[in-house]
Amino acid sequence: MAVLEILQFPDLTLRRRAATIPQIDEAIHRLAQDMAETMYVAPGIGLAAPQVGVPQRLIVVDLSAGERPGELITLINPEIVCKEGELRMEEGCLSVPDLRETVARCRRVVVKGMDLEGRAVELEGEDLLAVALQHEIDHLDGILFLDHLSQLKRSRYAAKVRKAGSAGS
Ligand code: ZN
Repeated sequence: MAVLEILQFPDLTLRRRAATIPQIDEAIHRLAQDMAETMYVAPGIGLAAPQVGVPQRLIVVDLSAGERPGELITLINPEIVCKEGELRMEEGCLSVPDLRETVARCRRVVVKGMDLEGRAVELEGEDLLAVALQHEIDHLDGILFLDHLSQLKRSRYAAKVRKAGSAGS
């Protein structure tokens, strides 16, 4: 396994719509393993392939951040098929450092996709799991949690990143 580099805002790869994975081969297995490893080292509770520079529809989620065995969820070509309720929770993102903001999401989602064996899976998530799934699936469509914030908060953050970029080196 390997720890991959996590791309950060405003990297344009994060803005691309990721492609459907046509077949699950050895490379996809390796990518999924490396993504889990990368997420645990960060540490985080979710990671999407575009965040490590791979524009393909693959996400990993582990609400225990690797603390509890068996909690890792790997989903290929995930799709949200049902959304219910409303929830406001503070979010952060490994690709959007130094920012935590409250985002409005659906409280409950049903997600369809495939596991690494190519079996169809249907997963129901509530509360934190629902938020994590929506956040990671957004990444596959080039959407960052920033995009759910007000224009003012977004432009403030972008300005901060620009300033930090020009101050450094
Ligand atoms: Zn994220």
